Amino acid sequence: MMPEENLSPSKLPRVRFAPSPTGYLHVGGARTFIFNWLYARHNQGTLVLRLDDTDVERNTEASVQSIFEGLRWLGLSWDEEYKQSERIPLHRQQAEAIFARGLAYRDFTPAHAGDDNQSSAQGAWLFNPGMREMSREESDRRAAAGEPFALRYRVPRGEGRTLRFTDSVYGEQSKQADEVEDFALLRSDGMPTYHLASCADDADLRISHIIRGQDHLSNTFKHLLIFEALGASAPQFAHLPLLVAPDGAKLSKRKHGPVVSVTTYRDAGFLPQAFINFLCLLGWSPKNDREFLTLDELTAAFTLEAVNRANAVINFTEEDPFDAKAVWLNAEHIRALPVERLEASIAPFLAQAGFHPTPGQLQAVTPLIRERIKLLGEAPAAADFFFLDKLAPYDPAELIPAKGGDAAMVRRVLQHTLEVLPSVSFDHDSLDQALRAAASSLGLKAGQAFQPIRVAVCGRKNAPPLFETMAVLGRDICLARIAQALVILEPLN
Ligand code: GLU
Repeated sequence: MMPEENLSPSKLPRVRFAPSPTGYLHVGGARTFIFNWLYARHNQGTLVLRLDDTDVERNTEASVQSIFEGLRWLGLSWDEEYKQSERIPLHRQQAEAIFARGLAYRDFTPAHAGDDNQSSAQGAWLFNPGMREMSREESDRRAAAGEPFALRYRVPRGEGRTLRFTDSVYGEQSKQADEVEDFALLRSDGMPTYHLASCADDADLRISHIIRGQDHLSNTFKHLLIFEALGASAPQFAHLPLLVAPDGAKLSKRKHGPVVSVTTYRDAGFLPQAFINFLCLLGWSPKNDREFLTLDELTAAFTLEAVNRANAVINFTEEDPFDAKAVWLNAEHIRALPVERLEASIAPFLAQAGFHPTPGQLQAVTPLIRERIKLLGEAPAAADFFFLDKLAPYDPAELIPAKGGDAAMVRRVLQHTLEVLPSVSFDHDSLDQALRAAASSLGLKAGQAFQPIRVAVCGRKNAPPLFETMAVLGRDICLARIAQALVILEPLN
């Protein structure tokens, strides 16, 4: 679908992301946010961020902070922002309007027994006839006497009414109204329920598309009734498939711990664009099945029609908390990033490990490690030898090439290198030429001669290309480390 051009502003979509601040921003919430963002941006619409913070018992300020922290890290902006707790007068007013139309009734069942629809969750409870059928006079009298009550929606009964909607993802949905319980609009403490607050706000904020998790699919029938009672047309609904763990269990903070938190990905060194790319592939696939996609490409390709119904699995284990695809995508995004931006992304991870390179060092080192890291958090280990005064101790056997090498040969290589280096200029080409000539003058193949030098200057075999590395380290450090390698080698014959 192409962006809908030439639509009048009132026809442009308005979507919302409505997190409840009861924990950190988790991967499922982040995906819902991203899909709303993509839908809004693809269609030149408006993205509303609405904090669903009316549940005072479960909300925490720490959670509000952590949700904003997660969203800011993603770097995707929204256009309007609301706090549901500041809109409670509107919710109450709407509840009263529904009551005044006879579409709701007071339920004086003592608090908690009637408030939370506990029994309906067990399948038995639809309504309490004593409350639903109470005369208006008695209801008014008890309310005037100060008896607390919840306000419940009077779901049509015995009319054979079918509630229907067409979900953009899950298609035609229907349910008999007779099977929907008389759900609460206001709790007995006067607070709006999620159902009421959400629909009253969605109507008032003129939300045109509700894109949210599949766990809300069954709530939608209640929401249709509320929109109808408010005299508002229902938005288009699009429910997103669940994110599940490898064993098929719904991802949850309680059960799966920090692997479901967005900040865990940030702290391990995912780039936000890679994380966004990964989350998009959980439940959505572009037409051409490409996997690596930039934000612009995602925005251009995103449609609700291409969202799948099947649960999307995130793979992780105790040892390996990140899905292999997420890590692969991160490595691809690291390689695709302009090097100056990669420098800026890597610097905080180096600083955390105690390395504070100068801008010049950072600029020199970043291109040398970008192919060697999959997560930004691997940068300190990949680059430490550039910044350490003294290399961490290593096994002298590492200096000896597996094929055709022994300690005597390594000694010759290192000694010869020490003699040659003082007169070589420390750039890639000169080092290349000089060290190849040195190897052949010793009658060795380049590969054989270079391993001891690489291990001597980096402290390990697995390191970036040798000449670039030596050029960055500089002559003094290379000479000192090669001399030190000869000392380390002494015990071996
Ligand atoms: N606050 C609700 C949640 O976090 C929002 C659900 C909805 O989008 O309607 O699940």
